[in-house]
Amino acid sequence: MLTTILPPVPKTISQGYELLVSDLDSVITAMHQHLQDFIGCAPGCSSCCRQFSILPLEAAFLADSVDVFLQSPGSGGLCSQLIDNRCSIYPQRPLICRTQGLPIGYIDEDREQIEVSACRLNFPEDHQFDHRDLLLLDSFNSRLAALNSTYCQTFEIADEIRIPLG
Ligand code: SF4
Repeated sequence: MLTTILPPVPKTISQGYELLVSDLDSVITAMHQHLQDFIGCAPGCSSCCRQFSILPLEAAFLADSVDVFLQSPGSGGLCSQLIDNRCSIYPQRPLICRTQGLPIGYIDEDREQIEVSACRLNFPEDHQFDHRDLLLLDSFNSRLAALNSTYCQTFEIADEIRIPLG
């Protein structure tokens, strides 16, 4: 498994990643307060926890910081880190997992509009979103991509590879 051979994350990159997580968590906390009448996410709901892939930096960070990082595939299309319907790595979960349940806005510059992705358990199909309701992830994703590039360049890893989580 690739995570067993990914080099440990250098301290400067690790600090940058932890700052990114902290900044995102601050925004997410504020959004949960703003949208508290709609968000029904609670322990035991794992609808978002499907198999997906992460950047080498996040995989190396997890391998460094989680005592038991399950590397066997998940079953039934579910994430391998999901145990008894709960995330077994919750404090260290990847960036995208922290956004689960919130409506995400992606700026489509070509079409000059914002694409919205939202959990239908929290927001029905006909929900009308105000721009203040949307978590805009582009700047956070750019910071993550830059940190990943630095990590990959440091160790001559192709930064376009993705590590399956599950
Ligand atoms: S890492 Fe945790 S929160 Fe993310 S998909 Fe897997 S079980 Fe769910």
